[in-house]
Amino acid sequence: MALISPEEYKNSLNDGRVVYYKGERVENVATHPDLGVCTDLMAVDYELAENPEYQDLAVMEDLETGEKISRYYYKPQTADDLLKAHELIVKSTELGDGYIPLAHDIGADALNAINITANIIGKPEYIERIENYRKVLQGKDLATCAAVTDVKGNRMLRPSDPGQAHPDFNLRIVEKNKDGIIVRGAKMHITGAAYCNDIIAIPCHAMTEADADYAVAFAIPANTKGIRQVCRPFRSRISNLEFPNDRPVRVHTDSLIIFDDVLVPWERVFLCGEWKHAATMVYNFALMHRRTGCSYRIPLSEQFVGVGAAIAEYHGITKAPHVREKLTDLIVYLETLKSLSKTACYDFVKRGGLAVPNPIATNMAKYHFAHNYHDVIKIVQDLAGGILVTAPTYKDYQHPDLHDDIEKYLQASKSVSTENRLRMLDLIRRITSADLETICLHGEGSPMAERMTIFMEGGNVLKDCQKMVEEMAQVKK
Ligand SMILES: Cc1cc2nc3c(=O)[nH]c(=O)nc-3n(C[C@H](O)[C@H](O)[C@H](O)COP(=O)(O)OP(=O)(O)OC[C@H]3O[C@@H](n4cnc5c(N)ncnc54)[C@H](O)[C@@H]3O)c2cc1C
Repeated sequence: MALISPEEYKNSLNDGRVVYYKGERVENVATHPDLGVCTDLMAVDYELAENPEYQDLAVMEDLETGEKISRYYYKPQTADDLLKAHELIVKSTELGDGYIPLAHDIGADALNAINITANIIGKPEYIERIENYRKVLQGKDLATCAAVTDVKGNRMLRPSDPGQAHPDFNLRIVEKNKDGIIVRGAKMHITGAAYCNDIIAIPCHAMTEADADYAVAFAIPANTKGIRQVCRPFRSRISNLEFPNDRPVRVHTDSLIIFDDVLVPWERVFLCGEWKHAATMVYNFALMHRRTGCSYRIPLSEQFVGVGAAIAEYHGITKAPHVREKLTDLIVYLETLKSLSKTACYDFVKRGGLAVPNPIATNMAKYHFAHNYHDVIKIVQDLAGGILVTAPTYKDYQHPDLHDDIEKYLQASKSVSTENRLRMLDLIRRITSADLETICLHGEGSPMAERMTIFMEGGNVLKDCQKMVEEMAQVKK
C-alpha cells in the first residue's frame, strides 16, 4: 500500500524527535494541544487523497508498479502535470480554509530541484540516489519539508568569509567518512518541519569555490540523532473574546532546525561540494516553490475578495463609486494571480528532463502577490472601518447589561444582524494578521529575489525588444 491514512501519518510522528515549543520539550507533536492543530492541518493532505471526490486530482498510478502514489511525488513532464499539481494545491488549501496543508508539496519542490540538478550534473550515483529516494517517498507517502533558508549570519558576507562571527551560519559539511557526511549548522523558518517525516535540506544561495563545504543537499528523517527543532509560537485556537466558530483552526508553525553534527548516510546525500551547482539547485527550487506559493495564495486572495464584498454589503456601501473601485481592485488582484499562475504552467520550460513552471510568469505571479498584498489589506481594512479594531468583544456582546445596546447600536445595514457583522469583523482580523503579512512578503523569497530573477530571465526580452526598435529606427551598426 503506497498511500497512508491520516491516522498512520499522525502515528508516524511519535518517533522520539526533539522538538521544543514555548520553552518545553514536546513529547508527541501529534497529540500536543497546540502542535496537534498543525498536525491536523497537514493531515488534510492525507484526507484529501482518501476522498473519492478528489482522487483523480490527488492520486496517480505508478507506471512501473501500478501502485497508487501521491501526485506530488510524480515527476512532472508536461503542462498538464504542472496544472494538475497547481489545482491540487489550490484544492487542498481551500480545504485548509486558506492554509496549505503542506505534507508533500514543498518537499516535492525540493525533490524535483535535486532531481533536475542531479540530471544536469550527470553523476550516475546522484541520479540513482534521487530516483531511489523518490521511490521511497512514493512508496511510503512520507510527509516532507524543505529546509532551505540558512540562518546566514551577516548577509553581505559569503558563508566561508572569515569576517563572519563563526563558520556555522550556513549548513556545512564538517566531515566525510565511510558511512556518510557529518553536517553542522542551522536552518530557519522551516514550515512544517516539526511534524513531517523527512527533512530535505538544500543550499539557500549560490556558492563560490571557497564555500564548497556549504554546497550540500540531503534528506534525513526528522528524528535523526543531533537534530533539534524550536517552533515559533502561534495562535492555535479562537479566543473566547471572539464569536464561537466550529471550524477547525488552521495554522502552521515554522522551525529553527539545529543540525548538531548530524550523520547523513551516503545514499541520502545529493550534493556534496559541487559548489557550482548550488545555484542550479536553489534556482530551480525557487521556481517550483514560488509556483507552489502562488497556487496556495489563491484561496487566501479569494478570502480577501469575499470579506471585502461581504463587509461592504453589511455596511450598506456596495453601490458607492469608491467602494466599487476598491472591489474592482480586489478582483484584479485575484484574477491576475490566477492567470499568471496558470500561464506559468502552460508556458513551462524543461530543466534537467523535468517540466518547470515558466520562470518569468512564476516570479511575476509571486511578486504581484507580495508587492500588492499590503494594498489589498488596506482596502479590506478601509471597507471594514474603525470598528475592525474597536468593536466590543463577544464577551461584552453576551453580557446581559450590554447585549441589547450592542445589538441596537452596532447594526449597520438593516438586512444584516449585528452578530453577523461582528462575526465577519472577527474573520477579517484573523485573515489580515501581522503573521500572515510577513509570510506573504517573505515566504518563497523576498520581493527583491523575485525582481532579480525577472530581470535575469528577462534578458532575452530586453534584447529582442531592443532589436525590434533598432530595426524600426534603422539604427546603423
Ligand atoms: C512564515 C514563513 C515561512 C517560511 N517557510 C520556509 C520553509 O518552509 N523553508 C525555507 O527554507 N524557508 C522558509 N521561509 C524563509 C523564506 O524563504 C525567507 O524568509 C526569505 O527567503 C527571506 O530570507 P530571510 O528571512 O532570511 O531574510 P533576510 O535575509 O533576513 O532579509 C532581510 C532583508 O535583507 C535583505 N538582504 C538579505 N541579504 C542581502 C544581501 N546579500 N544584500 C542586500 N540585501 C540583502 C533582503 O532583501 C531583505 O530586505 C519562510 C519564511 C516565512 C516568513
